Amino acid sequence: MVHYFLLAMQRDIYRIKDYNTKDTIAAIATFAAKSALGVIKISGRKAIDIVDKIFVAKNKKSLKESKTYTLHYGWIRDNKKMIDEVLVSVMKAPYSYTREDVVEISSHGGILVLNKILKLLLNKGARLAKNGEFTYRAFINGRIDLLKAESILNIVDAKTDKSLDFAINQLLGFASEKFKNIREDLKDLYSKTEALISFEEEELNISFKEIKNSLINIKEKIVKIIEDTEKTKVLKEGINCVICGKTNVGKSTLFNCLIREERAIVSEIPATTRDVIEDTIYINGVLFRVYDTAGFLDTRDIITNKAIKKSDEILKNADIIILVLDNSKPLDEHDYFLFEKIKNMPDKNIITVINKIDLERKIQLNSLEFKPIVYLSALKNIGIKKLEDVLFKNIYKREPIDGIFLSNYQIEILKKIKDILDESLKYIDRKESIDFVNLLLKEAFQEFGKITGEVLCEEVLENIFSNFCIGK
Ligand code: GDP
Repeated sequence: MVHYFLLAMQRDIYRIKDYNTKDTIAAIATFAAKSALGVIKISGRKAIDIVDKIFVAKNKKSLKESKTYTLHYGWIRDNKKMIDEVLVSVMKAPYSYTREDVVEISSHGGILVLNKILKLLLNKGARLAKNGEFTYRAFINGRIDLLKAESILNIVDAKTDKSLDFAINQLLGFASEKFKNIREDLKDLYSKTEALISFEEEELNISFKEIKNSLINIKEKIVKIIEDTEKTKVLKEGINCVICGKTNVGKSTLFNCLIREERAIVSEIPATTRDVIEDTIYINGVLFRVYDTAGFLDTRDIITNKAIKKSDEILKNADIIILVLDNSKPLDEHDYFLFEKIKNMPDKNIITVINKIDLERKIQLNSLEFKPIVYLSALKNIGIKKLEDVLFKNIYKREPIDGIFLSNYQIEILKKIKDILDESLKYIDRKESIDFVNLLLKEAFQEFGKITGEVLCEEVLENIFSNFCIGK
């Protein structure tokens, strides 16, 4: 309780200036489109009073008299005029999303009716909520930390099963717990250096070696989080998977097999896929963005040259390259040209597909260095499932055991902390005064608090909450 009180005091000093928490805020929380139901949310000290002014319950009781977590049937009215038949739920402070009084009006889903109700609320004293302002209040009032606030944003944004799982875990507090432990370790270490400044090593039973080991331990945990977060980012945003190969090897046919529709132009005349075609597929809940590229042949044809440039760019940004070769033909200079091109690309996972296995084999693979190899026939739909499995395994290999979603800004802070710890280690190795390490650890501790929200930094807050939609 004391902890929350202190936190709330600190939060008073660092609020986002535009988000005045004294106001009662209102917003349409559902998608503004023709739909069966719509929800309008109101939060703040006057929330119940304001809704009471426009709501008539069937039992004629005012909401003020109602208990928390109750549902009320009735009508919204504008003076004498009835606007809509609604259900109103009342959640009283502190047991609500924002820890303030919250009222939710469930009306019919028409855009006009939702806007009319919202306007009435604004006329009776509410202010239109800004992006993420409800969640911001949940944070400011100490119900959730920044990591949980961010997870809510990610639940709303989730495009794949995997990213939803991670976001839910983060909301359940797995990430918060992990960060809390590291912060405790940092605090502990800082206190030890503080003690070492005042007393001798022998008196304290704390050695430089012990300090060094703790530093390494904390640094490793931070490095792991940075790595995991980078990987989770791939899962969240999808995997860029590029199909490349010389003309006529069957790229478009394979592309169509993977996306299961006839979109890429398939033709027996070389170079018909004039541009880069993109589509998305889900394999076991992971989003793959598949690109079919034009050939990489050097040609005088201007349109194709443009496509080649674009293909090069897409290759550069690929997470996985599917290199397609033709089983029915010996490798030629165009294949080798491509091998050279992709050989030196760093961090790329290359999967070789030998297509057209329904035709007689003329390809020799002695010198081929790109593994794994998948044999298939895109035309006859043989081996596609195997390719999907290999693609998924490739991702699974990178998948962290416990992913955390952090904003780029927070990752930058973590990297900064890692650098600070590296610098501290250098001082320890040189057996220099512990004073520098002590100062560095203090800085690291403060930086760390910015990620979870214990140390408030307006830049971080704005960065997070501005990405929410209004009504969340
Ligand atoms: P791209 O230029 O690499 O995109 O090649 P396409 O997908 O346009 O295919 C070129 C030709 O090869 C078309 O006639 C396809 O029907 C044919 N083709 C593609 N895959 C296979 C396959 O697995 N077996 C056979 N026999 N023909 C294929």
